Amino acid sequence: MDWVAEDLRYVWHPCSQMKDYEELKPIIIERGHGSYLYDNTGKEYIDIISSWWANLLGHTNQRINDAIKTQLDTLEHVIFANLSHRPAITLCQELMKVLPPGLCKFHFNDNGSGAVEVALKMAFQYHYQTGHPERQKFMCLTEGYHGETIGALSVGSMDAFSKIYKPMMMDSFHVEAPDCYRCPYGKKRTSCQCECIEAAEKMFAAHGHETAAFILEPLVQGCAGMRIYPPLYLEKIRALCDDYGVLLIADEIATGFGRTGKMFAFNYTKVSPDIMTLSKGITGGYMPMSVTVTTQQIYDAFYDDYSKGKAFLHSHTYAGNPVACSAALAVQQIMREDHILEKANDMAVYLHGALEDALGKHPHVGEIRHIGLINAIELVEDRPSKRPYPSQQRLGYAIYKQALADGLLLRPLGDVLYFNPALTIDKQTIDTAIDRCVKAMAAVI
Ligand SMILES: *Cc1c(COP(=O)(O)O)cnc(C)c1O
Repeated sequence: MDWVAEDLRYVWHPCSQMKDYEELKPIIIERGHGSYLYDNTGKEYIDIISSWWANLLGHTNQRINDAIKTQLDTLEHVIFANLSHRPAITLCQELMKVLPPGLCKFHFNDNGSGAVEVALKMAFQYHYQTGHPERQKFMCLTEGYHGETIGALSVGSMDAFSKIYKPMMMDSFHVEAPDCYRCPYGKKRTSCQCECIEAAEKMFAAHGHETAAFILEPLVQGCAGMRIYPPLYLEKIRALCDDYGVLLIADEIATGFGRTGKMFAFNYTKVSPDIMTLSKGITGGYMPMSVTVTTQQIYDAFYDDYSKGKAFLHSHTYAGNPVACSAALAVQQIMREDHILEKANDMAVYLHGALEDALGKHPHVGEIRHIGLINAIELVEDRPSKRPYPSQQRLGYAIYKQALADGLLLRPLGDVLYFNPALTIDKQTIDTAIDRCVKAMAAVI
C-alpha cells in the first residue's frame, strides 16, 4: 500500500496548506517511545515539540498505557449529565492539590478551544446573573492565541488564523501585549516593573465597565513564538481586573502541568485567576480532554431553582470521558511519585546551557528565551537591530524541512524555532536534538 498517496487522497491535514504536501509529503509515523517517533521506513525523529505541546511524559508511557487499558475494560464512556464515575471525581481531588487557591469547580470538555468557549460563556453569564448584563465584551492581549473556534478566535490575535472570519467574530478589546525581546521601554524582562501595563490601564479606563473578562496566556504567549513575559505583569492585570470588576481567565492550556517549571504558570504569582482552562498536557497527550476550572463564587451565581433558568447548559458528548480521566489521573500520580517537576527543572538548566553554548553567539539568533524546558530561538536577519527576515522567505519552514530530514521534529512558529520537549527528556536526547538543530540551521542560513 502506498500510504502517502492514500493519505493525500483522503486526508485534509490541520494547520496546513495542502499544496505544500506536493513537496513535503506526509510522514507516516508507525510508533513512538519516550521522546522518539519512528516512521514506516524505520527512520527516527526526536519529538522536541511534544507533538503540539501535548505529550508530557513521553510517548507510550507504560504507566499511562496500563491505566488506560484497565479503564477500557471497566467503562469506556458514559453520559456525564447526572451520571458520574470515580476517574472524574478522583481527578478533581488530585487537581485540587495542585491548582492555585480558590479554583474548585470543574467543567469537563474534550478540547482546548471548547474549554475557552466555556470560560467566555461562563464569564458572560456570571455577570448577566449578578446584575451586570452590560458587561458583554472581552479583553485580551495582542499576539494571543486561544484556539480556533469562533469565540476563541475572537479573543485571539493571530491574523493568519482569523482574518478571513472577522465578519463572523465578536469585537474584543486587544491590549498591546508585553514584547520583552523588543521592549519599547528599553527594559529587561528580568528587572523591569512591567511599564507596558499602561496599555492595559488605558484599556480598562476606557472599557473596563463593559468588559466581562480578561483572557490571557500566562507568562508564555505560545503561538506568537513563545513570547515570555514576567509574572509581575499577571499580578498587575489581576489588580486591574479587581479594580474594574472584570473576571480574569487564565488560559493554561499550553503552560499547565509543568511546562514553565512550576505546575501552572500562575504558581509564579501570589494571585489566582477566576477561571482557568486546561488541556494539552492534562492527559499526557493521550486523550482529547479539557477542563475549565472556576471558583465557588462564580459557581454560586448559576445555582438556583431550575425554573429560574440560571443553569449553565453547555455540554459536549464526550465531556468527562472516563478513559481520558484515567490517563489524566495517571499523569498526576507519575508527576508526584517520580518527582517529575524537580527532574525537569534540573534538565531545564542543562538544556538552556547547552543551547546557549551551541547557538547563543550565532549571528542570526536574536535571543534564546526560556522558562522551564521551553526554549525559543528567535531568528533575525540582523542581530543588533533585531530586524526579522522577510516573512515571504519562510525561513522557519525551510529549517523545519531540513530538520525533518535530519531526524528532528521542530515545527517552528514563523522564524522562532523552539524546544518544548516531554518533561522526561534525557541529556543524551537533548544533545542529539541540539546537534540536529544546529546542522539543519547551518544547511539553510
Ligand atoms: C492549543 C491551545 C488552545 C486550543 O486547544 P485545542 O485543543 O487545539 O483546541 C487554546 N489555548 C492555548 C493557549 C493553546 O495553546
